[in-house]
Amino acid sequence: MTGIEITDVTAVLALGSIALFVLGLKRLAKVRTSRSGNALMAAGMLLAVVITLIEVGRVDYRWIAGGLAVGTAIGIVIVVRARATKMPQIVARFNGFGGAASALVAMSLFWGAVVEPASAATTATVLGGTSAATMVLSVLIGSSTFSGSVLAELKLSGRIDGAPRIPVRAALMGLLLVGGAALGVVGAFAVTDTTLAAGLVVGLLVAAALAGIVLVLPIGGADMPVVISLLNSLSGLAAAATGFALANNLLIMAGTIVGAAGLILTQIMCKAMNRSLVNVMVGGYGGDGGGDADTEYTGVVSGDAEEAAMVLEAAESVVIVPGYGLAVARAQHAAHEVAKALAEQGTRVRFGIHPVAGRMPGHMNVVLAEAEVPYEQLAEMDEINPDLSQTDVVIVVGANDVVNPAASSDPTGPIGGMPIIEVERARRVFVIKRSLSPGYAGIKNELFERDNTVMLFGDAKEVLDSLATELSA
Ligand code: NDP
Repeated sequence: MTGIEITDVTAVLALGSIALFVLGLKRLAKVRTSRSGNALMAAGMLLAVVITLIEVGRVDYRWIAGGLAVGTAIGIVIVVRARATKMPQIVARFNGFGGAASALVAMSLFWGAVVEPASAATTATVLGGTSAATMVLSVLIGSSTFSGSVLAELKLSGRIDGAPRIPVRAALMGLLLVGGAALGVVGAFAVTDTTLAAGLVVGLLVAAALAGIVLVLPIGGADMPVVISLLNSLSGLAAAATGFALANNLLIMAGTIVGAAGLILTQIMCKAMNRSLVNVMVGGYGGDGGGDADTEYTGVVSGDAEEAAMVLEAAESVVIVPGYGLAVARAQHAAHEVAKALAEQGTRVRFGIHPVAGRMPGHMNVVLAEAEVPYEQLAEMDEINPDLSQTDVVIVVGANDVVNPAASSDPTGPIGGMPIIEVERARRVFVIKRSLSPGYAGIKNELFERDNTVMLFGDAKEVLDSLATELSA
């Protein structure tokens, strides 16, 4: 017996860290337990950092302290400047940072072990076959995740509009991915000249970045949720590949958890859009993100909060359907006040949540949780739809695409085939939005012309505040 080795200690701590990740993830699945889940995962990450520092042993801590300071400063600036409505863009950016970090760590491994010492052997000989192969994979996935996420962020913030078609896109993407991988493999396994090897690996980095752009640029209409969750998954897979390259078990496990969770989310988003992943990626349809919408409306009826309150006072069941506009207007607290006022008069109130409402997966759950809307009042689309024909009033708050009947009436349109919350089946529908402008998919919404629809034009928060005041009067 030689006593307990440092590797035994770090192995046990690593297990503890992974256990914290898994437990945290489990708790994130429910709104009520999600805060503690987040704290558990943060603790797991801190432990992982400590373990890595112990394992690495003799390191120059000045670099680590510098990196920590720069990273913390960037994080603080992003979070302090961010408004809650920018959350989806921030998530997209963090996905990109994850991909970039993985690619850069893999590159630095290659640079430090092969290029700088100008070794006269191939990367595979210096680092071993597994490290060399996963280094290539990490750069390929990480770099494409980075460029794809930057583009997704620009699209979500509206700085890039539309979804231009790219001719022979599938072939081009195949060429960039396969060609990039081939450059990396040749550079890592067959070349002993370090300058040439470095050039080939940089070629891989560039080809992968272009592939990310080709992947995301033409995706439009309502398909972005699938891309966002796919990029999230890819950022995890890039980290796992880097874990293999560095022979770091913790990174492999953490990356795999993110990759798997993102893949499940992608599957859920595909189901929510009634699309297959291949169909979205190939860009079979999904429209061009709007712009050419036929927004001529006839017979639109509008009302005000006072009239709406009178109808609501007589209602026995009310469903509130929130969308992106609710988040923009920060109207979640006002929506909760309306729900409370209705509940006090004995009305059954629920919130109908569409899986792709807003601009990021789970967006509505997050904003409603912030306003402390009771979890029991939230109903998923599949749960609420069968009840809508017996519902007295639906209040649509800043939602548009997710309640647009064009999903079934125009199967080849940008949201064709997407299941929607079928609000038009309720006896009365109030739609709160500022104008007749289209939603993210950029198309007309016939719901606004239906006989049982009344538009309540205005900012979501202002209209809901007036409604709450009327109901409590
Ligand atoms: P939409 O984007 O379809 O519609 C939002 C509506 O909110 C707009 O029509 C706008 O109308 C209204 N609005 C904006 N600001 C305000 C305000 N201050 N007060 C009141 N209304 C306001 O949102 P949905 O949630 O219905 O649908 C989400 C769309 O986004 C889907 O197409 C989805 O695919 C896509 N998407 C979703 C992602 C996700 O992961 N969830 C990611 C990326 C895209 P007006 O200007 O007239 O007020």
